[in-house]
Amino acid sequence: MSQTHEFQAEVKQVLDIVIHSLYTDREIFIRELVSNAADAMEKMRLTQLTENDVFDAASTLEVTITADEAARTLTIADHGIGMTRAELVENLGTIAHSGSKAFAAALKNAGKQNDASLIGQFGVGFYSAFMVADKVEVHTHSWRNDGEHLVWTSDGSTSYTIDESADQARGCKIILHLKEDAAEFAKTHRVKQILEKYSNFVSFPVILDGERVNTVEAIWLKSKDGITDEQYTEFYRFASHSFDDPSYRLHFQAESPIAINALLFTPTQNMESYGMGQMEPGVGLYCKKVLIDPKPKKLLPEWMRFVRGVIDSEDLPLNISRESMQDSALVRKLGDVVAKRLLKHLDKEAIEDPKKYNAFYKDFSRFFKEGIATDHTNRDAIAKLLRFESSMTEAGETVSLTDYVKRMKEGQTTIYYQVATSRSTIESGPYVAAFKEKGFEVLYMFEHIDEYVISSLHKFEEKDLKSVNAPDIDLGDATGEGESLPEADATILCDWIKERLATEVETVRTSKRLVGSPALVLTPEGEMSPQIRQMMKAMGKDGDMPGNKVIFELNPRHQLIRNLAKLQKTDAETAGLITEQILDNALLSAGLLDEPQRIIERTQKLMEKLSS
Ligand code: ADP
Ligand code: MG
Repeated sequence: MSQTHEFQAEVKQVLDIVIHSLYTDREIFIRELVSNAADAMEKMRLTQLTENDVFDAASTLEVTITADEAARTLTIADHGIGMTRAELVENLGTIAHSGSKAFAAALKNAGKQNDASLIGQFGVGFYSAFMVADKVEVHTHSWRNDGEHLVWTSDGSTSYTIDESADQARGCKIILHLKEDAAEFAKTHRVKQILEKYSNFVSFPVILDGERVNTVEAIWLKSKDGITDEQYTEFYRFASHSFDDPSYRLHFQAESPIAINALLFTPTQNMESYGMGQMEPGVGLYCKKVLIDPKPKKLLPEWMRFVRGVIDSEDLPLNISRESMQDSALVRKLGDVVAKRLLKHLDKEAIEDPKKYNAFYKDFSRFFKEGIATDHTNRDAIAKLLRFESSMTEAGETVSLTDYVKRMKEGQTTIYYQVATSRSTIESGPYVAAFKEKGFEVLYMFEHIDEYVISSLHKFEEKDLKSVNAPDIDLGDATGEGESLPEADATILCDWIKERLATEVETVRTSKRLVGSPALVLTPEGEMSPQIRQMMKAMGKDGDMPGNKVIFELNPRHQLIRNLAKLQKTDAETAGLITEQILDNALLSAGLLDEPQRIIERTQKLMEKLSS
């Protein structure tokens, strides 16, 4: 009985892009279909380890490709796990994740409307068949003995049909009826040329018109000298389903404490920034060339999920199941050794070519920051990879914590930083000037999460990390700036302000650390820091947040404060308005001003007074 199904809306969008806007790199459909065939056979191999009742159990695990120029068809057949009726609907009629939106966004971002090469990375590779075919048939029988002989057919417009069909072997046979302008893909030599580019990494025989095209190659077991950059890049693209170039590469062999052959890459594109959600781990676990798990969750630390490649260890028991693998001490050790090597490698590369590293870091810093917060064992090594602008760098240039420590002033024991939205916010604010005057470098951090990251890090090379707006910093007297308000007058002024602003300030005091600015606010010890408040606000969790009372520090050498001390005695009303405004300016610099609109009303009043 024939059943017609509508494609899910997401699939329709992908098909629309695939059919109407992708005209170059169309040949990648072969890679996508062959890699699906290989995936299905890999799953079959694993299934056969535990299941005895398998349909067509004797069929060989290989990909057979037939090009028929006269009929203008290309057929790709495998003996993998195949699909049941429900699986056909699920796998070829829907997309479970937000693949299509992310895919469309990435195409726009790439700036090349017709770049088909991205498709595999978004988990929608099968649909690339419709770039070249106006009709696709998927003949299949599942590995389950109670499966049916089925054929799925579609022209890629809005629907597909599923029919019962004559005897099928186990697995999938995909027949592409090629469009007129895609006739080249029915020519053996053209298909061969495409397969030769990458099928060497497919771990099953690939046979084209009766002739085997690939020699299965475990490039990670070879020595480095025998491998060219091009071969590495091709392997990276094969392993990551991508078409970008790897940014860094680490290939190493070790014998102790465990035998390891590892080949790891970092990408140039951060797929999570396309709104694809969390990536899955991308470093496969092998034992003597045999894949144990393509996406092992507990091999490398979770934050390293952007890394691609292979870890092979002959010390692993071959029959280890994925479940027991997760808890194996050996696997943990393996991941631990490799993670450490990779961190060391990145540190070395970053020092050797800072410009390249900065470009990479821009896109991937989020992972390192996540690592600091979640990966205790590697925290110190990850910290070396962090980069920040600072009071001693130009805008856009960065410094590492290691370099910061190297150039610390004699006697300096603390690493200082400020978190704010931008460089100009920090530099125009009241906090850093005193540090600059004393010759202390201040790191500039621009993301809300930085506060959290730094507090997880706690120390770097035994040095404390402290925000410049911590309440307990004593830099000694600021020097070289005008005459100070006499102490008695300052006390009167502070008491007067404290009374007026009792609901907002906890303490009013004169400050030694202010240079050039009239005032600043500090968050009392134990209160939520401004950055954490902003994070809560961004998450919509500020409803039940207590209003912070702040410490209000005045600069007794600043002309405005000296004037204020006098004005307070003669015109308390104006002095009051000015004081409130000084407080709001300071709150604004600290990122703590919750009601900026009150400034408008107040400045209105002040201007009226001035102009009367
Ligand atoms: P992905 O391979 O990233 O999952 P695709 O669009 O390439 O995305 O394939 C979608 C799904 O269709 C696969 O996950 C798989 O479940 C199923 N599929 C595709 N080709 C085959 C095949 N040859 N044998 C069995 N299942 C297949
Ligand atoms: Mg695929």
